[in-house]
Amino acid sequence: MAPISKETDLLVIGGGSGGLASARAASTRYGAKAMIIEGKRLGGTCVNVGCVPKKVTYNAASIAETIHQAKDYGFSVQETAPFDWTTFKKKRDAYVARLNGIYERNLANDKVEYVHGWARLISRNQVEVTLDDGTKTVVSAKKILIAVGGHPTPPPSIPGAEFGTDSDGFFDIDTLPRRVALVGAGYIAVEFAGMFNALGVETHLFIRYDTFLRHFDPMIQEGVTKEYERLGVHVHKRSEVSRVDKDPATGKLTLRYKHSSAEEKEEVLADVDHLIWAIGRTPLTAGLGLETAGVETDAKGYIKVDDYQNTNVENIYALGDVTGRVELTPVAIAAGRRLAARLYGPEQFRTAKLDYENIPSVVFAHPEVGAIGLTEPQAIEKYGKENVKVYKTSFAAMYFAMMDPADKGPTAYKLVCVGPEEKIVGLHIMGLGSGEMLQGFGVAVKMGATKADFDNCVAIHPTSAEELVTLR
Ligand code: FAD
Ligand code: NDP
Repeated sequence: MAPISKETDLLVIGGGSGGLASARAASTRYGAKAMIIEGKRLGGTCVNVGCVPKKVTYNAASIAETIHQAKDYGFSVQETAPFDWTTFKKKRDAYVARLNGIYERNLANDKVEYVHGWARLISRNQVEVTLDDGTKTVVSAKKILIAVGGHPTPPPSIPGAEFGTDSDGFFDIDTLPRRVALVGAGYIAVEFAGMFNALGVETHLFIRYDTFLRHFDPMIQEGVTKEYERLGVHVHKRSEVSRVDKDPATGKLTLRYKHSSAEEKEEVLADVDHLIWAIGRTPLTAGLGLETAGVETDAKGYIKVDDYQNTNVENIYALGDVTGRVELTPVAIAAGRRLAARLYGPEQFRTAKLDYENIPSVVFAHPEVGAIGLTEPQAIEKYGKENVKVYKTSFAAMYFAMMDPADKGPTAYKLVCVGPEEKIVGLHIMGLGSGEMLQGFGVAVKMGATKADFDNCVAIHPTSAEELVTLR
């Protein structure tokens, strides 16, 4: 192994989405000497325990749905086609391992020095790295980027909470469970619950309110919650898990939970194979030496940055999940590339920064949902009810025309427009193909499209998306 450099231009702590993007851009595009320190596996959360293995699992769940629906199109398929989760998991792990290798080779090709170890700030321009063999080395850097991401928020302190797992543990499950329970109401709980259910697992979702995805437009919150119930997910509304017990012989869990409407009555869910806590993520800053270097965090522990990813300490920057702005992979990547351009690129990039407005995102739920911009309530609050006009539609996609009523899924779209020119400030979609559909509409919204611009675009028929350019 080549000796580790003692000095570098840019030292990046964290080889995840944001850190990799920034280091590679700094080196390949602008010729900076860059080093990346990663304590676990290259690719970070997204590649190892996030977007990538999640989407592959989502694809498996979609195939299960298609097999179920195929009979409506005249195919004679075995209704309960066996799904070999164990083989699937091995293939998924192998795919992720391949990606880890590709990332490592990319760094070598891009002349970014890669050090496997844990980094800690020991001054404003020095980082101590604890290597795999326990030895420590100190690297001085002109600039330091903190891109350490986050980890699943630990469960509330209830008896037996530790018998549950989290989203990282989800990817270790190696046999198809019979019954699972999930606590949480955000992206992860909803995506995992939908996938388990589609793969034939009895799925219990514990949420604190009447709907999940409460940061999304009410159309989506209500639409997806209702659809999950219709699809057979046991949605325990206004519930709180208060105790978990584990049978030492079988490993099965028993959950006790209460509904806030029936305070006294405790209910029991037994024979649970896995309990997954999915109640948000927490920045991974413990032991990072932020105090030593004087880097400020907010009340929730996120590193405070300005619009340019500057921390309060000169030459120390932060981006991605650890800053708690919009916790998505493309956001971390975009911020990382812009930062590299600003720090090392030509003059025209001196003010490069990521615009955090109007970032599209998709929840790989059943059905997929996507959104960009303001929800209807947010638009009303910002612009006043009299200035907001909403166009919406709900219908059965043509894909479902051949199906039994029980197999028909919902589709619903909404445009939130503002002012006399009807500028589109929010676009919300739910239904088949929403994930792929949103990207193009996102470009239009980002460019400031109006309702008339949408109307001027001739529809593509027969698609679901055409409804968005023919709304009345
Ligand atoms: P990370 O990718 O978390 O990378 C940080 C890296 O820093 C990690 O590898 C960590 O090991 C390393 N590190 C931490 N501390 C140190 C240290 N002291 N020394 C050395 N290394 C350190 N986003 C999407 O856009 N689409 C999705 O579909 C999606 N699905 C997701 C599904 C799940 C289950 C989860 C958990 C997340 C998902 N996300 C998704 C979010 C996405 O994964 C994150 O927003 C993204 O990974 C953040 O990138 P980052 O660079 O900020 O941090
Ligand atoms: P989220 O922040 O999306 O959602 C967590 C939700 O859990 C909260 O909004 C809250 O909803 C609920 N909750 C919080 N505390 C408790 C509690 N003690 N008991 C029960 N419920 C609780 O976090 P996730 O962990 O789902 O995901 C983290 C982030 O990762 C996401 O915000 C997203 O940025 C990213 N991600 C993106 C994906 C994508 O792009 N497709 C997929 C997965 C993750 P309520 O207030 O309604 O109870």
